[in-house]
Amino acid sequence: MNSVTLPGGEKVPALGLGTWRMGERKRARADEVAAVRLAIDLGIRLIDTAEMYGDGGAEEVVAEATEGRREDLFIVSKVLPGNSSRAGTISACERSLARLRTDRIDLYLLHWRGTVPLAETVDAFERLQRDGKIRHWGVSNFDAADMAELWKGAGRACAANQVYYSASRRGVEFDLLPWQRDHDVPTMAYCPLDQGQLASDATLAEIGARHGASAAQVAIAWLLAQSGVIAIPKAVRPEHVRELVGAGRLRLDDADLAQVDRRFPPPKRAQPLAIV
Ligand code: NDP
Repeated sequence: MNSVTLPGGEKVPALGLGTWRMGERKRARADEVAAVRLAIDLGIRLIDTAEMYGDGGAEEVVAEATEGRREDLFIVSKVLPGNSSRAGTISACERSLARLRTDRIDLYLLHWRGTVPLAETVDAFERLQRDGKIRHWGVSNFDAADMAELWKGAGRACAANQVYYSASRRGVEFDLLPWQRDHDVPTMAYCPLDQGQLASDATLAEIGARHGASAAQVAIAWLLAQSGVIAIPKAVRPEHVRELVGAGRLRLDDADLAQVDRRFPPPKRAQPLAIV
């Protein structure tokens, strides 16, 4: 499986599993735990979650699914902007650690930018790092101007920026991705299937047919072909989980990439960041 190098040199897998909308309903819990377990059984090592998802419920799903197998996993979670003051970030992290039933979060992100000064949140991240409660920190939903501002302050240890990025939502390619590549900050691509829609795209299906793959697999393989990008698709249905993991083995060729460009042309000008 492809990997992406974090600023400190650590390699992380370029394909992980998202958990948004998990942990919201008791009735769905067993299927969600089974989905995360299946993904791990099939080789997934990076799991993305957040205190926001299911009001902590998704972190509990992750805890249940990863029990006894924490060691070789890379767990990402996020603090809500409303909790991101110096003291608030530390308490939010401790609540997440308790729900995740672990002693450390591998990558802890500010979910999106709020009104708390960035320096305060970064200060709390550094304290959590010194205390061994998080290993790396980063941000999410930051555009190129936000990243530049972070860099001017104390933000140079930022290990990743998680943004909306898929074959059909390519705005970040204009300015944000080049900035992040220049500064060695990996991009985590959320909604890599455009919230499931790309699974029924006819052009991606046509490309997939040449490789014995599905449209969803082409959408993921396309992201994995972009340097410095980590894709975190979410799936609960077992057949979806299997397909997504299989996408890690699919290699698109130049003709495939050119066909994606014709279907979804790269941006010609700066665009506001896509958000969900
Ligand atoms: P995705 O683009 O990953 O799409 C998920 C949807 O696609 C689900 O409905 C899933 O169905 C479906 N799906 C998965 N695999 C297949 C397949 N092979 N064929 C057909 N359909 C499929 O959207 P998400 O919004 O979940 O984004 C991924 C992750 O990114 C989130 O889970 C979360 O971890 C993160 N995220 C971060 C945000 C942020 O602000 N930082 C914002 C949004 C997401 P099913 O579940 O039924 O199997």
